[in-house]
Amino acid sequence: MTTTNNTNTVAIIGAGLVGSVLALGLKKRGVDVAIYERRADPRGAGMSGGRSINLALSDRGMLALAAAGVTADVEAVAIPMSGRRMHAKDGASSYMAYGLNGEAIRSVSRGGLNLTLMTLCERAGIPIHFEHRCEHVDLKATRVSFNTPAGDVVVDAGSIVGADGAFSAVRAAFLKTDRFDYSQTYLPHGYKEITIPAAVGAGFRFDENALHIWPRSSFMLIALPNLDGSFTGTLFLAHEGEDPSFNSLSTPAAARAFFAEQFGDVLTEMDDFDEQWATNPVSSLSTVRCGPWVRGNSFLIGDASHAIVPFFGQGMNAGFEDCRILFELLDESKARGEDVAVSSWRPLLEVFYMARKQNADAIATLALENFVEMRDKVGQPEFLYRKQVEAAFARANPDVVTPAYTMVTFRPLLGYAEALLRARAQDAVLDTLCESAAVRRHLAGDAIVVNEVKALFESAAIRLQG
Ligand code: FAD
Repeated sequence: MTTTNNTNTVAIIGAGLVGSVLALGLKKRGVDVAIYERRADPRGAGMSGGRSINLALSDRGMLALAAAGVTADVEAVAIPMSGRRMHAKDGASSYMAYGLNGEAIRSVSRGGLNLTLMTLCERAGIPIHFEHRCEHVDLKATRVSFNTPAGDVVVDAGSIVGADGAFSAVRAAFLKTDRFDYSQTYLPHGYKEITIPAAVGAGFRFDENALHIWPRSSFMLIALPNLDGSFTGTLFLAHEGEDPSFNSLSTPAAARAFFAEQFGDVLTEMDDFDEQWATNPVSSLSTVRCGPWVRGNSFLIGDASHAIVPFFGQGMNAGFEDCRILFELLDESKARGEDVAVSSWRPLLEVFYMARKQNADAIATLALENFVEMRDKVGQPEFLYRKQVEAAFARANPDVVTPAYTMVTFRPLLGYAEALLRARAQDAVLDTLCESAAVRRHLAGDAIVVNEVKALFESAAIRLQG
């Protein structure tokens, strides 16, 4: 067994997206950091399979990347998506812009982004210890034990950070401490990834600047563009108990018949559907809520503290936002001339937790609700009408009405909790408005009713502030 004593160092467990960004930002602020990752170096071993999905990176995430000093490197590998394209069963499609002013989210490859961030870490002089699986954490002694191919390794650090994802080993140590709350809830739906290849010589088979959705009420397929012209599709479907389910589509033939009926326009673009169906795993979706995330100078961050379902495209963005808030707290502490040595981090970490917990809970709720919107509601005429009403008034009164998606995705300085509160108040007004004949007349171009409708939204905003 090897023992290393680095009591001035922050030991970050997990070189995933959040661990890498955290390391970069801390290093930029003069903090001594080291990363420990259970996987082998992906540059030598090839990125691990399974979750090789691409992700939607929004302005919140970009703000944190700017604070870590890596904006340009990430922009270079991202494809802007300025709206959703919904595909009906008959092959017809409709488009809904995301923002009111052409704003876009970005499609990035999880593996590609992770490689970029790891390489930037190493260039910044941050050691990444690969093939170090965290096995045990002693929070009192700030000591972490790893299993490695060369035997067991023990590290004494100044702070241990659990950036090791939804099934965090570091969190397991928190679970053993007094009054640590924890819940993990699975959705009945799971997901399977498929690749829709680029068309030979013709590039993208669907509009590359959109996130594509095939909403089918109790299940849905989505697809995001990749730089090579392919799309990564993700089918969200019940594990079992419903027909169809992953259980009922146990053979490629059954799955092919299901795709032919539901997603015919996708199936015709795939030569290797049967092989992909048989090979690609079905994964589960869970929400983890826990707290407090801080014990002594050690803490949890990213999915380790708040894993959420992916339907608002915010899990990584929320983890990146954790990093930004922590960087800002460190900068403010430093500006006040306070001691920012790792051994004195505890008060700052407690402020960090208080600032983040309510926001993490809010985005978990919003993400669960958006599943119903994406798989079911976006296919319903009443919902599209409601969106039209919301967009019309948001455009006319941007200070009073902001759609929930816009608040979460394109207002990076507005907390998730505040966005949830405002969305609830707006929803109540929209319920009334959608019933109103005056609104129908307004949408049809009758200017007389504009003030009447504006007053409704304004009164909701006043109630909210009061
Ligand atoms: P992870 O990415 O899970 O990284 C954890 C790291 O820790 C890994 O490298 C792992 O190998 C390592 N590790 C684990 N255990 C140990 C151990 N014992 N010892 C050492 N190392 C360990 N988010 C978005 O913002 N936008 C999206 O569009 C989006 N889409 C998604 C789609 C799907 C289907 C899913 C499942 C998630 C999606 N997410 C999305 C969420 C996003 O993937 C996560 O929020 C994000 O990856 C969390 O990053 P992380 O670094 O906290 O954890």
